[in-house]
Amino acid sequence: MKRFKPPKQLKIGNNQWNVEPIYGCTYYPSKEIVIACNLKGKDLEDTYLHELLHACFHEADIKLQHKQEEQIISALTPVLLEVLRQCRWTNE
Ligand SMILES: [Zn+2]
Repeated sequence: MKRFKPPKQLKIGNNQWNVEPIYGCTYYPSKEIVIACNLKGKDLEDTYLHELLHACFHEADIKLQHKQEEQIISALTPVLLEVLRQCRWTNE
């Protein structure tokens, strides 16, 4: 049986809609980090640290434009994960 793969774009009514898979999300007002429950291993670690860094930036009052913060955190996450592994701060 073929597995359902949601299209990345589809037309609903008269408008084009984009479908983005969400791995994680940080909600600042409610101080919540949401992680997709199907993530495992490296993807889970990567997404978890990524969202933690968003929360850290927020708590440290580092104010950047969303795109800029996303670029910094995306670049920093794998480097920091490797450092944390060497310090045995993670399970792997
Ligand atoms: Zn992000």
